[in-house]
Amino acid sequence: MSTATVVGGGPAGLIAAEVLAQAGVAVTVHDRMPSVPRKFLLAGHGGLNITHSEDRAPFLRRYGSSADALAPMLDVFGPADLRAWCEGLGEPTFVGTSGRVFPRSFRANPMVRAWLARLADLGVRLERRHRWTGWADDGGLRFVDADGAESTVTSDVVVFALGGASWPQLGSDGGWLAPFAGRGVSVLPLLPANVGLRVGWSETFVERFAGTPLKNVGLSVRGAAGPTAAGPAARGDAMVTCTGIEGGPVYAIGAAVRRALATGRCVVDVDLRPGLSVEQLAGKLQRRRPKDSTSTWLRRAVGLDPVAAALLREAGPVPSDPARVAELIRAVPVQVSATAPIDRAISTAGGIAWAEVDEALMLRRLPGTFVAGEMLDWEAPTGGYLLQASFSTGVVAAQGALAWLERAAQQR
Ligand SMILES: Cc1cc2nc3c(=O)[nH]c(=O)nc-3n(C[C@H](O)[C@H](O)[C@H](O)COP(=O)(O)OP(=O)(O)OC[C@H]3O[C@@H](n4cnc5c(N)ncnc54)[C@H](O)[C@@H]3O)c2cc1C
Repeated sequence: MSTATVVGGGPAGLIAAEVLAQAGVAVTVHDRMPSVPRKFLLAGHGGLNITHSEDRAPFLRRYGSSADALAPMLDVFGPADLRAWCEGLGEPTFVGTSGRVFPRSFRANPMVRAWLARLADLGVRLERRHRWTGWADDGGLRFVDADGAESTVTSDVVVFALGGASWPQLGSDGGWLAPFAGRGVSVLPLLPANVGLRVGWSETFVERFAGTPLKNVGLSVRGAAGPTAAGPAARGDAMVTCTGIEGGPVYAIGAAVRRALATGRCVVDVDLRPGLSVEQLAGKLQRRRPKDSTSTWLRRAVGLDPVAAALLREAGPVPSDPARVAELIRAVPVQVSATAPIDRAISTAGGIAWAEVDEALMLRRLPGTFVAGEMLDWEAPTGGYLLQASFSTGVVAAQGALAWLERAAQQR
């Protein structure tokens, strides 16, 4: 019987273990945490958005520069396959109003219980509190357990699925980077993705508006993908926090923000009324009654709520010229000083360079060793795309490992 070691018990590692075990391979999963899959379970706290229902072309575009690399993997195990898999675990899925897909219970726990039971039935062994620390001289995998005892494991194939580096308390801490780099594998630095942005708000603004949503705003990063005829780079509700701003549209501009920050300056233009042109806004703003305060004027003329009007003031004194105010409303400049730290990020960008793996996700430098999930160099916005790619790459890596085992058997 062939043997496989899966290192990392997140969604990518566990689905790889399932595919391998279903093909009759003896699989052991090692994870440094006392229970798995922790991040997947946490993802379920806010509603487990397992994948998205949009068509293939827009779906693929969410992966930006990694779309070409991931496309064949999403064809192998795509959204429909993932939804069928959930149903097989007793959790039929439904499409939410935004096109996002959720399991019926909305949570991850019922599915995880059923999944771990299925893996146990398939004979998958789970070694918890086993931290992988690198390779031994003979190529074996070195582990250390909770008591500090060291061991070396060898098997016919290996799948690594060690995740990125966000929320390290859940297990994935990016500790794998150094051993991989030590084997000559090119790894791009892990950077926070889908993360809040730091803004130096005034005290008054924080006191009054921390926790208040800026409803249906457009966001664009100055100097990157600025406002175009097609509209701002991202649109939706953004949440004001004590330290900055967060939420779906904020996460969606994350890559452009990182690029701008790397140049030393990042300004995000907030479009408070994306549905109206500057001319339309200026026309409406002409109607100011003499007794109206600025807030009343902005509310009556163009419907700005208190938080939106206060954001305008954060950028400086509000001009009295309607045309200038109209321009400001379409692009309130917000100076971003940094992203929130990686340990608060939903995911990470960077990881193992695509050039390091073949189409079956086998490391070119380490034949028989496969990689999957967030440890590969791709990123995507929230919306189910992160879990989908983690599952798809897990399946492809496992299928690659099976093909490798078959070739090895034929050569014997
Ligand atoms: C708060 C939050 C909410 C999220 N919500 C969603 C959502 O709704 N939809 C969505 O698509 N995505 C969501 N995500 C992202 C999604 O959970 C991840 O993209 C996904 O879990 C990545 O899967 P993975 O298997 O690659 O890595 P992980 O899930 O990070 O698993 C990696 C595993 O490797 C183990 N490990 C790491 N290093 C070692 C080592 N040295 N030795 C042994 N084991 C090790 C870890 O303990 C961990 O169990 C969310 C993330 C967070 C933080």
